[in-house]
Amino acid sequence: MKQSFYDLSFADLERVVGENDFNSSVARILFNWHYKKKETTLCKGDISRHSLAFFERNYDFSLPEIDKVYESKDRTVKFLFKLKDSHKVETVLIPFNNKYSICLSSQVGCAMNCSFCFTGEQGLKRNLATSEIVGQFLQAWRWLATNRPGEERILNIVFMGQGEPLHNFDAVKKACEIFLSQYGCSIGVQKITVSTAGYIPGLKRWSEEIPRVNLALSLHSPFEEKRNQLIPINKKYPLDEVLTYIDKIPLNKKQFITYEYILIKDFNDDPADAEKLGRLLADRCAYINLIPFNAFPGSRYTSPDMDKVEKFKEVLDAFKIPTLIRGTKGDDVLAACGQLNSSN
Ligand code: SAH
Repeated sequence: MKQSFYDLSFADLERVVGENDFNSSVARILFNWHYKKKETTLCKGDISRHSLAFFERNYDFSLPEIDKVYESKDRTVKFLFKLKDSHKVETVLIPFNNKYSICLSSQVGCAMNCSFCFTGEQGLKRNLATSEIVGQFLQAWRWLATNRPGEERILNIVFMGQGEPLHNFDAVKKACEIFLSQYGCSIGVQKITVSTAGYIPGLKRWSEEIPRVNLALSLHSPFEEKRNQLIPINKKYPLDEVLTYIDKIPLNKKQFITYEYILIKDFNDDPADAEKLGRLLADRCAYINLIPFNAFPGSRYTSPDMDKVEKFKEVLDAFKIPTLIRGTKGDDVLAACGQLNSSN
């Protein structure tokens, strides 16, 4: 089977071009064609027939197939992608003012087995390749260009779909390099966020290798015991250890760490939880996303009352921590946080 072109970072492609003595402009032209113009057909740029034939012979330019598209009333779009081995993953486009954020999956299923998450129920099937991660973005963009022309503007990328991105470090890192590359998608480093349940081996590498990309930690409880119940890997990688690694990430002035906190009715939505959370994060460069729990078929928890959510935020406000209550988009098509599942 041919290697996917979309598995190559710009540096990888330059290496291939160098090894084959092609004109050094070939890498730039190919990246431009496939990532800026987002074409999947043979490159029509200024490139020799000889080098083009080499790439055609050795590389696959196809993208993951869109199996189904679900459009929500609020214009959220959920894609079900069918991969070459018939596994499926989901991707979500979240609208804001005719622009979009994209929520990407990094694995088929997930090994973290969080008790509040639909994806976790599937277990881990396999990691996604870089081409399958970048492919979700390119296909979603192409779908917008065809179906909502003029709206093909995807300004933010979040790795908050299926999977634990730091558990598939190499492929996710390379996908980020392609998104960031000035010859590739040219997306600003502040526009990409990788969300983790606190997988320390990946976190360690992240802080050393690619610290400029934003990091979000799924925190969900400041109490180790409660967090154990929500996120089983907390037993292996406890929160206080996770935070010591996060504290080592060199942040520039405009950067902060996002802490995600799912509010679950009568479990972690009490002012006492907020108080402890506030104390934990007050001196950290934190931004908190409060996410009211989204139910899914068979889920064991329930959504909190909105007045409890407001009260929770007020406690955090007193600590002067910027806090956003995240609205639920796309829940009518099961596209909201934690509702992604591709086992059917
Ligand atoms: N494994 C990574 C990436 C998945 S992110 C992580 O844990 O961060 C998915 C985000 O959606 C996380 O913040 C997760 O905690 C949240 N989420 C999962 N299930 C949810 C649910 N049922 N309701 C609301 N948010 C949920």
